[in-house]
Amino acid sequence: MRILLASSEAHPYSKTGGLADMAGAFSKALARKGCQVGLVTPLYAGVRERFRQLRRLDFPLDIPLGMQRVRAEIWTLDPMPGLTIYFIDEPGFYQRATLYQKDGQDYPDNAERFIFFSKVAAELALHLPWRPEILHAHDWQAAFSVLFLHHTRRLAGWATAPRTCLTIHNLAYQGVFPPSQYALTNLPWDYFSHDGVEFYGRLNCLKAGIAFADVITTVSPRYAREITTEEFGAGLHGLLLQRNRVLKGILNGVDYTEWDPGSDPFIRHNFALDSLAHKVRNKADLQAEFGLAQRPDVPLFGNIGRMVEQKGVDILHAALNEMAAYDLQFVLLGSGAPEAQRILQTVAARHPEKFAIRIGFDEGLSHRIEAGCDFFIMPSRFEPCGLNQMYSLRYGTIPIVRAVGGLSDSVVDLREDAALANGIKFYQYDSAALVKGVRKALALYENARLLSHFRKNGMLADFSWDRTAEEYLKLYEQSTGRRK
Ligand code: ADP
Repeated sequence: MRILLASSEAHPYSKTGGLADMAGAFSKALARKGCQVGLVTPLYAGVRERFRQLRRLDFPLDIPLGMQRVRAEIWTLDPMPGLTIYFIDEPGFYQRATLYQKDGQDYPDNAERFIFFSKVAAELALHLPWRPEILHAHDWQAAFSVLFLHHTRRLAGWATAPRTCLTIHNLAYQGVFPPSQYALTNLPWDYFSHDGVEFYGRLNCLKAGIAFADVITTVSPRYAREITTEEFGAGLHGLLLQRNRVLKGILNGVDYTEWDPGSDPFIRHNFALDSLAHKVRNKADLQAEFGLAQRPDVPLFGNIGRMVEQKGVDILHAALNEMAAYDLQFVLLGSGAPEAQRILQTVAARHPEKFAIRIGFDEGLSHRIEAGCDFFIMPSRFEPCGLNQMYSLRYGTIPIVRAVGGLSDSVVDLREDAALANGIKFYQYDSAALVKGVRKALALYENARLLSHFRKNGMLADFSWDRTAEEYLKLYEQSTGRRK
């Protein structure tokens, strides 16, 4: 199959979250399966300096964007056979140190930046010489490419235009702008309707994908069901319910070449199931790195992530006040809303012998936390997929998760299946439920036999990208009519 992916971030070139992990690893998994894969993404500041093999493609672009015309170039990189990365070089839009916002404020020209990005993705899908059969757009930043192809197919009568797939990584981010920005699309106004991209009088970029994609996916089966309900639907549950027939949840995978405790270059003591004793040494290293007492006997809890409402900062904060009563340690690495940082730092400062917080984005430290902790807390209000709980499982670190979205799909609680149990689930969104989960963890920590049963189950659980890629291939084949 010939597939063009469009993603506004991709590891290792750019990253703010799980989308980058998926775009980077999924594109490789498809190429490993023998597909011809392209990945189109912006050329952000610093990429050219870090990846010196970039080559200019003879594909000059001069594209209308509302009243102006915007020129850009395409640079390519071939990280492995079967995979080409197409970087869009438009310095005015993308040569910035950060991807979407500065000092917590979205860039004022994000509509221009990503409608343009979507136009280029559609242009490549239609005109690359290897003729992609599928354009797979990710999140609101790429969603308009779906409508551009739909429009080409419908009005220009281009019967062989590629089919389209939209993946929603997080419905909370929809790319909503003033209606005047619709002019940037240069599309007729009939798409700006209730059934199209209009959303309470405004322009909603994600809707362009949801309303017009041939198939829609989300990053876990449970999240696919959740977003058709009012509670999780972020105002789009009605449309999603209408499109339920083409909506499917496929759990993301884990890149085990990057997240393997046996070969992880970021930790000092590599370990596997038969050498779990080394895990304790990583725990000691981590305690030292965070300035906590190096006690092997004390249960060490961790958390990594964007400190935003979605991730359950409020209940975590309240739970920490209660967790301080127990003999445990807790480390956190995160960045995000300044207010969230401040409240967590305040509670940590009250108990410096138990809690330690590091603000910032630090890839190496995130690996050391996964390796060194005994338990990993993810108290999300909602979670489309979540990756850290899957990393935790592979590192013998037991996840304590709220049973939503991908957290629910990837973790098995004792009450669900005693033989396969690998984590602890709680259901209510409140700190009492989370603290109860922590208490269960403390009891588990005292029961060496059960603890190693959980660890073993977790380390053996397999969330490889191969499985995910296989499921997507089936979906692509159905939508292109290759397989009925
Ligand atoms: P989301 O995409 O909602 O942020 P995910 O769990 O799907 O959440 O993916 C987050 C990814 O970003 C994981 O790989 C996680 O380890 C990483 N990450 C998040 N915050 C940090 C941070 N402060 N430092 C290092 N890595 C981080």
